Amino acid sequence: MSRLAEHLKQARRVVFFMGAGASTEPPTSLPDFRSSTGLWRNRTLTETLTRGTFFEDPEGFWLAFREIFLPWRKVEPNPVHRAPARLSALGKEVGVVTQNIDGLDARCATGYPVYELHGHLRTASCPECGARVSTDRCETGIPTCECGAVLKPDVVLFDDPLDFEGVFLPARDLIGKADLLVVVGTSLAVAPANLLVLERQGRPIALLNRDPTPYDEMAVLVERRPAGVVLDEAMSALESAGGGTA
Ligand SMILES: [Zn+2]
Repeated sequence: MSRLAEHLKQARRVVFFMGAGASTEPPTSLPDFRSSTGLWRNRTLTETLTRGTFFEDPEGFWLAFREIFLPWRKVEPNPVHRAPARLSALGKEVGVVTQNIDGLDARCATGYPVYELHGHLRTASCPECGARVSTDRCETGIPTCECGAVLKPDVVLFDDPLDFEGVFLPARDLIGKADLLVVVGTSLAVAPANLLVLERQGRPIALLNRDPTPYDEMAVLVERRPAGVVLDEAMSALESAGGGTA
């Protein structure tokens, strides 16, 4: 049994913290954001996908947003996204906090909480009247609400605030109660994500990331191999061992 499997076996409450790297693995294979080849290396993109651009140039905003992100609604989950459900099926108390907007963590969830820090692509909302529609209705032109305002996707854009009450605080609470925090596919370089991890104050963290992070020293386990492989291996071991409750 792998070291990760041993840690998972001992924990009763396990929370997964997912970064962009969780969705770069096959068959999902989305581009990441902040690595050297990442999506945000494209400066025009970071300038376009802002709250400011949305209100000043909704057409330009939607052109870029639609082309890059709407296809992400159709991608397939990989073993990383499926790991929490497998662990939950073994009787563990599971939760997920994700930085990803592809919705795959929520799609794979089997009744456990999933907090999407940066929102998701399922819906768009009206900034004027609050009406919410499926992004299926945002595939052409400038998507407009019945009240006349331009619909805004329910993702956190550059210079948008996070949803503190509805998402950030409950996510922090969930992480605070975990016996083990499994961090997948993020270098934890960006606030407030890294704050959520720092607040663990010495309690167990497993880091599954391709590159080193500033938090490697405080982790009980660091894995550089693809997270899907590592998690699949650990889950299979726990499943054949019959789960093994703590
Ligand atoms: Zn409206």
